[in-house]
Amino acid sequence: MAHSPQRRNEAPVAAPAPDAETLLARIRAIAAEVAAPRAVDVDARGRFPEETFAALREAGALSAAVPVEHGGAGCGMAALAEQCAALAQGCGASGMVLAMHHIQVLCLVRHAGASPYFAGVLRELSERQLLLASVTSEVGVGGDTRTSRCAVVPTADGISIDKDATTISYAEHSDAMLITARRDVDAASSDQVIVYAPRGALRLEKTANWDPMGMRGTCSPGFRVRFDGRPEQIVPVPYADVSALTMVPSSHILWSGVWTGISADAVARASAFVRAEARRTPGTVPPMAARLAEVSVELQTMRNHWQSLAREFDRLALQGDGGGLATIGWALKMNNLKIASSEAAPRIVHRALQVIGIQGYRNDSRYAVGRQYRDVLSASLMVANERIASKTATMLLVHKDD
Ligand SMILES: Cc1cc2nc3c(=O)[nH]c(=O)nc-3n(C[C@H](O)[C@H](O)[C@H](O)COP(=O)(O)OP(=O)(O)OC[C@H]3O[C@@H](n4cnc5c(N)ncnc54)[C@H](O)[C@@H]3O)c2cc1C
Repeated sequence: MAHSPQRRNEAPVAAPAPDAETLLARIRAIAAEVAAPRAVDVDARGRFPEETFAALREAGALSAAVPVEHGGAGCGMAALAEQCAALAQGCGASGMVLAMHHIQVLCLVRHAGASPYFAGVLRELSERQLLLASVTSEVGVGGDTRTSRCAVVPTADGISIDKDATTISYAEHSDAMLITARRDVDAASSDQVIVYAPRGALRLEKTANWDPMGMRGTCSPGFRVRFDGRPEQIVPVPYADVSALTMVPSSHILWSGVWTGISADAVARASAFVRAEARRTPGTVPPMAARLAEVSVELQTMRNHWQSLAREFDRLALQGDGGGLATIGWALKMNNLKIASSEAAPRIVHRALQVIGIQGYRNDSRYAVGRQYRDVLSASLMVANERIASKTATMLLVHKDD
């Protein structure tokens, strides 16, 4: 049975959506007061950061990307990325969950909001602060998000999908999922659609555990996902367009924000360590202060990269989907951003560790950066850099510089 997007009897009375500036200030406070104090426990137990997400819901943060006319804050990409960076500075896994949620919401906002069904979904999302998860990965296709084995199958009541996903973050804590699948049973593997699947219409069967090196609080095991729904739950635009115009750029920009937040946390610990050393020997500059200065350059460069591309996205998005977001030049910028940020983050955390020394290596020290280090090692794997680099190489064969 399809799930109605309107469950107003369960909906709390929604406060007016905050503006982008207010929301960022609230998320910064949540990062410092709720996420950071629990980050060690979230990591150690590999548990979902539920206190942080309760606070984000209360702040209205889960509808940040929803347009004002549907009850959200109407934030653009630049504002969303700042939110992800701010939260990740307190807890990397929390920042990544917020980023993945914003990416799903943007796919609906930018490609489905005109349909009455999806207008209702966005309204409900704002009222109830729904958390959306992503099901692009699939057994048998690896990390190639533009290929599906499963298909949308017609049933007597509507449609169904049966997908064996390798990884679904916070699946058991989400209110709905966006699932990619072949358009129908005869479609080619790249002829995909993306389908909105509320929890009430899903059956989840865990097929793998989640005991990773880092990003433990994202809670991302494998699941067999079975969905029964209605055709109007299919986003009315081919997934090829949703992916190129929204999912890929928003992933690379918002993930870069997350990795910057985690790196900034490590650099802040290095700064605090150097300041403490300086207080011990007044009148002298500790030798590692020079290394701190060097790593701060790299952190600023990393931040400036996604900030400028997020602003460019917001400008190009106003031109409509046929504009600059559909060009090879833009796709190359996105690939380059992903590779640059995912390589910079582990380097920055490593350099922060060299500044701090053994106090950064010890898990029981207030300068510890082990969690940050393990978290950012996921960056190059989350859509493998090798896969992205080989696509970039192909595009460069046909692309002429602007
Ligand atoms: C923290 C985290 C959270 C995640 N959350 C989700 C989620 O919520 N939903 C979801 O669907 N997925 C999720 N994923 C999965 C993610 O999106 C990718 O699908 C997954 O990380 C890729 O897995 P893979 O390395 O096996 O795949 P592949 O991309 O197939 O890579 C396998 C190997 O092949 C290499 N390779 C691939 N292509 C090429 C090429 N062209 N040339 C050379 N080598 C190549 C890679 O470098 C790698 O060594 C998550 C992953 C992480 C780390």
